[in-house]
Amino acid sequence: MAPAETLLVIDDDPTLRLLVSSGLKKRGYHVVQAAGVEHALALMVQHSPALVLVDVNMPERNGFEFVQAVRNGETGSRNRDKPLLMLTGSDDVASIDQAFSSGATDFITKPINLALLAERVKYALRGAAREQALRETQIEQASACRLAHLGFWQWDEQSDTLSWSEGATEVLRCETLPESGQALLSLVGQTDRLRLEAALVSAQRSGEGINLEVTLTLGNEERILRLQSAAKTEEHKLIGAFQDVTALRAFEDKALYLAEHDELTDLPKRRLFLNLLNERLSSAKQQVWSVSVIDVNRLHRINDAMGIQAGDQLLVMFAQCLKQSVPDALVCRLEADTFAVAMPHLDERDAPVFCRDKFLPLAGTYCLKGEEIFVDFTAGVSLFPSNGHSGDELLRSALLAQRFCRQQGGNQTLLLYESAHAFENVDALSLENDLRKALDNNEFFLVYQPQQSLVSRRYVGVEALLRWRHPTRGVISPADFIPLLEESGLIIDVGDWVAKEASRQLAQWKQQGIQVVMGINISARQFEVAGLAEHIARHAASYGHKPQEFELEITESTAMRNPQATLAILHKLKGMGFRLAIDDFGTGHSSYEYLLRFPLDTLKIDRSFIVEIAQSRQNRAIVRSLTALSQGLGLKTIAEGVEDQRQLDYLDALDVDEVQGFLLARPMEPAACQAFLQQQLVSVTAS
Ligand code: C2E
Ligand code: CA
Ligand code: CA
Repeated sequence: MAPAETLLVIDDDPTLRLLVSSGLKKRGYHVVQAAGVEHALALMVQHSPALVLVDVNMPERNGFEFVQAVRNGETGSRNRDKPLLMLTGSDDVASIDQAFSSGATDFITKPINLALLAERVKYALRGAAREQALRETQIEQASACRLAHLGFWQWDEQSDTLSWSEGATEVLRCETLPESGQALLSLVGQTDRLRLEAALVSAQRSGEGINLEVTLTLGNEERILRLQSAAKTEEHKLIGAFQDVTALRAFEDKALYLAEHDELTDLPKRRLFLNLLNERLSSAKQQVWSVSVIDVNRLHRINDAMGIQAGDQLLVMFAQCLKQSVPDALVCRLEADTFAVAMPHLDERDAPVFCRDKFLPLAGTYCLKGEEIFVDFTAGVSLFPSNGHSGDELLRSALLAQRFCRQQGGNQTLLLYESAHAFENVDALSLENDLRKALDNNEFFLVYQPQQSLVSRRYVGVEALLRWRHPTRGVISPADFIPLLEESGLIIDVGDWVAKEASRQLAQWKQQGIQVVMGINISARQFEVAGLAEHIARHAASYGHKPQEFELEITESTAMRNPQATLAILHKLKGMGFRLAIDDFGTGHSSYEYLLRFPLDTLKIDRSFIVEIAQSRQNRAIVRSLTALSQGLGLKTIAEGVEDQRQLDYLDALDVDEVQGFLLARPMEPAACQAFLQQQLVSVTAS
């Protein structure tokens, strides 16, 4: 059973006091009594009764004074809201009025009807309990609002009055709050003001709610307020909530910053870097960008020898130097000892030079704990748009280039990713590992594409084209692995094998009465190794061929890479008797004047000009001038990639010497090619 509630009965009339008290006691209450106001006030403090019955008329101080004293808090705040019931005369209307105005909860008229009194007491207690509960929830709500920095506002659109919930100033930690919409707008910054104004106007017009965040200056502080309102229910009134999200946003900003930046170097991390890069790329369609990955070599050795802290310090120094050398670039820390840099350039040729100039000086000695530490790195560079269109692609290309650079070892510091298409959809690294074994495993083979003379209509040559039969992936196109061979340097051995194998094949065909010129593709890397000419010559000789039976194809870009050195080798090959062709002619940006000083025999006009020859006047004009150029210099012209009769007719009319393409024959395996070439022998003999 709940403990009995204490009631206080105040009356100067002892009979009445006794009557009332005993009546209430019988109903289970605990009753204390006072004969006058002074005593009663003391008992209030002492017992803090749940309810008070107080007589209006008493000799010294009357009941009203008691009520006022309690309501004023003279007996403590806990008594302030207690139910106070006044005992008045039944016809004493003035007293009843006065009772309410002095703060009484209710009144009961004399003479007292005990049963009725008990009921009134019961209801008053119940009402008080409800009020108390309500007050408590209000207090809870207020403190919840304070904690959540939450409050309410109301805007009367017609009078432009803005009112705020109680405690709003406390929530916002300010003295006063704007009392009109205009006053509020004047506290908000320019851009937010426009948004807020627009939101209020549209709320007025459409009756929809608002939901926005604005920064306003309150006192000396900027605070970010989230303002929300439900749709307008009452005419001309908007009622809503506000929340002070300043701290939240600051925290979020901080968290975001930390999430996006590397703690050690304060540089952006990968995600932020990519976001920023993609943003720039999408607004820089016409520009060239480079993305470089720079990987510090052997950092773990420094960590082991001098401690992780020293390693960290070194990274910080390196990052600072990097940032200083390219102050306008986007720089990020990709991984522990890997950085990425993105920057715009004037053109594709300028980019690699610029990167080299900026990065190479970063290798050198750094002073760490009084010791001179030598730091070097390997870097890979990819270019936008050639090597990728998104930040992801470019970064991946640059990473691959960097890894190849590392694998190649030697003193190579920076490698360009030149042939992005080669790595698409394949794990270039695992492919490269496979490539290393391919030669030993006899996975390479050659196919041959015949070349027809337009004068004699005879097939006078073949081009040897490399294929790789990968153990699990099947036959892979050279476009996908030749760049890998080149970047890894494996092309040198493979190229040597090609020359040998083509020589062997040619010997076999010659035994069958087939006489053709053997076209062999030579890559730029092969020109960098000493003895190229001697190697090829040895293979040719070992099968009893004359060098004249070979046509070595080099691309324009190979020729122009190191023109002086190339020229020397070409002269040597030419001197031995080899035929020399420029492949993919017309695609480079080289100076023809320069190019044509090479000791050439043949120009192979690139497929891209042939493709549209029937459609595009421009391409016809180019082919015509290339052919004229070639003829003027006494060179043979071969058109590559002839796919239909119209192209062939046109090339014929232009006096192109030879044609090669799917229309005539696809590249074929040796047996098929042999059959194809023998067929011609038969028809020639027959005719
Ligand atoms: P390339 O030297 O320009 O070789 C011609 C390419 O065009 C070949 O592609 C050939 O199959 C293709 N082709 C020929 N006729 C047509 C045609 O009518 N239409 C079309 N669409 N294509 C035609 P393939 O065999 O895939 O070789 C691609 C490139 O790989 C070669 O281009 C060459 O640069 C390189 N390559 C191939 N074999 C070797 C090699 O032994 N050594 C070196 N260094 N590079 C090689
Ligand atoms: Ca070729
Ligand atoms: Ca070609």
